[in-house]
Amino acid sequence: QAKRRGSLTVSVFDEIMRKYSEQHIILHHEMLEGLKNGQFSVHYQPVLDTESQQFSHCEALIRWYHPERKWVTAREFISIAEQTGAIVEIGQFVFEQVLRDWAILQQAGFELNIAINRSVREFVDRDVAANWLAKLDNAHMPHHARIIEITESMLMDRNKRQVQHLEMLRKNGIKIAIDDFGTGYSSLPYLRKYPVDIIKIDRSFLTNVSIDDTQTALVNGFLDIARSLGLTVIAEGLETAAQADYLAAKGCHYQQGFLYARPMPLSDLLEFLRGEEKGS
Ligand code: C2E
Ligand code: MG
Ligand code: MG
Ligand code: MG
Repeated sequence: QAKRRGSLTVSVFDEIMRKYSEQHIILHHEMLEGLKNGQFSVHYQPVLDTESQQFSHCEALIRWYHPERKWVTAREFISIAEQTGAIVEIGQFVFEQVLRDWAILQQAGFELNIAINRSVREFVDRDVAANWLAKLDNAHMPHHARIIEITESMLMDRNKRQVQHLEMLRKNGIKIAIDDFGTGYSSLPYLRKYPVDIIKIDRSFLTNVSIDDTQTALVNGFLDIARSLGLTVIAEGLETAAQADYLAAKGCHYQQGFLYARPMPLSDLLEFLRGEEKGS
């Protein structure tokens, strides 16, 4: 009987896996089609430097509008794209769009650095770092105007080759940020060992900072460590003035969140930046 139950379990499992991967194959093709058909775009969320009160850079975030599914959130499709491999094409699209948009910002008189998100899988190609540097140079985008955001899992020992690409990019002036800092495992020891310039404290640690004792203690700890290692800190997902004030008082001056601005298309970003210029 146990055997029977076992085989039943297996077949249900197989069925789930089959459906799961069928869905992934469908989405994979829809993503590649969508890239060809202009369904994807890039939005930008400004990051404030609270000391200078200037928006020093912005983060590029991909958006997908599918004709039937309507808006699909990045959280939904990025993890699938990472598994199917479509993330490579998606990453190329974002990279090239950012180069074009950076040139437009530049022409409009805004010297803004742009951060892009990258997944581990995009670093597998042998020549990836050299290719990216060549593209930046072709577009006359200075390397220091580029920040690459990766997650902590990228910096694990099994990703040695990927880390070498990061090192090469960093040697060429590109800044490396750890996204969603604190949510991964090996947070602290690797910071010293790996090529990192910036940590972005994940929103989940900041929701009740200054109110909740545990959150406050953790965040203070992150800030101390970053300071002792000479790293820049960006606070992500700030929605209230209380959060922003606490962090600024603790010396965390780079702040990003709906409190200041939502991610927006380039045309809105230009308008936003012009409004800021007038305001200050
Ligand atoms: P992330 O890089 O940590 O980006 C921050 C996410 O938080 C964005 O979600 C942003 O819209 C959202 N956010 C910003 N401020 C606030 C706030 O004040 N409150 C709340 N509730 N949310 C806020 P989004 O755009 O849906 O992106 C989700 C994730 O998808 C990103 O997290 C990033 O990991 C990934 N992603 C987005 N674009 C790309 C891309 O071009 N390539 C890759 N590889 N991943 C991307
Ligand atoms: Mg990010
Ligand atoms: Mg994040
Ligand atoms: Mg993230």
